[in-house]
Amino acid sequence: MILFKQGDVLQRYLREVADSGKSIGFVPTMGALHNGHEQLIRECKKKARCCVVSIFVNPTQFNDPRDFEKYPSSIENDIRMLEANGTDILFLPSVFEIYPAGTDHLEQYDLGYLETVLEGKYRPGHFQGVCQVMERLLNIVKPARLFMGQKDFQQCLVIRKLLKLRSFGTELIIHPTVRENDGLAMSSRNRRLDHLQRKNATAIFHALRQLQQKWKNDQAAAITSARYFLDQHGFRVEYIEIANSNTLELQRTPSTDPEIALIAAYLGEIRLIDNLTLTP
Ligand code: AMP
Repeated sequence: MILFKQGDVLQRYLREVADSGKSIGFVPTMGALHNGHEQLIRECKKKARCCVVSIFVNPTQFNDPRDFEKYPSSIENDIRMLEANGTDILFLPSVFEIYPAGTDHLEQYDLGYLETVLEGKYRPGHFQGVCQVMERLLNIVKPARLFMGQKDFQQCLVIRKLLKLRSFGTELIIHPTVRENDGLAMSSRNRRLDHLQRKNATAIFHALRQLQQKWKNDQAAAITSARYFLDQHGFRVEYIEIANSNTLELQRTPSTDPEIALIAAYLGEIRLIDNLTLTP
């Protein structure tokens, strides 16, 4: 694995890789890597000849400064894991490398409706930050394929929109959510859960499963009961919604559209999100 810290050096190197006919796959991450990331990297290895992973904790996508300060980091373990999985290139830029002119007057993107609901509504500015960093990373890496996780479903839709807005010819591949044995979606933030919180955290998955089973009978009742179930397990629910999985239009009654259930909830000060598709 080759480690790059400078975008222009990596860009030059990858131009040669692309010129030699090797396809480039890209897995952007914020580090504190876990098996969810690992599965994305494995898929990238299967579908691209050169697998690039970035680790960058992007300050502009954190609407809560405490969340940014406490974001877990484990760079030595990360590097070991990346090497064990045959990652070809690790891009590890500094904040200055990504934002040489600072972070005050960055691009704003017209994300429309997507930015007004769910994560967009509860984390103002978050998706602007995601687009700011992703546009830079994509311009450096210029991947044929980009690998992202369904765990961050709305983020995938935002990136699909960014790819269109900026006419990137990159294919987005969405990998299913990787879970712990008890159903909890893997997340770097899980490391911050204490023993009891970790035990309760699995309730978010069970609430989604209950919604999956009950939503067709009475959607409102299914959501009320999921909320109650999460309350009982110490969560402070931010939202539980069922939405059209193409557009994220919120669905108040069952329809024939493809549907997805999405939850964001706090355990203590740790915010967890998860989702489950309701229709195949
Ligand atoms: P992060 O490091 O949290 O920014 O995540 C980097 C990428 O890994 C994003 O595309 C995430 O959606 C994806 N990811 C994170 N957790 C999981 C998971 N449990 N299963 C699948 N993909 C995941």
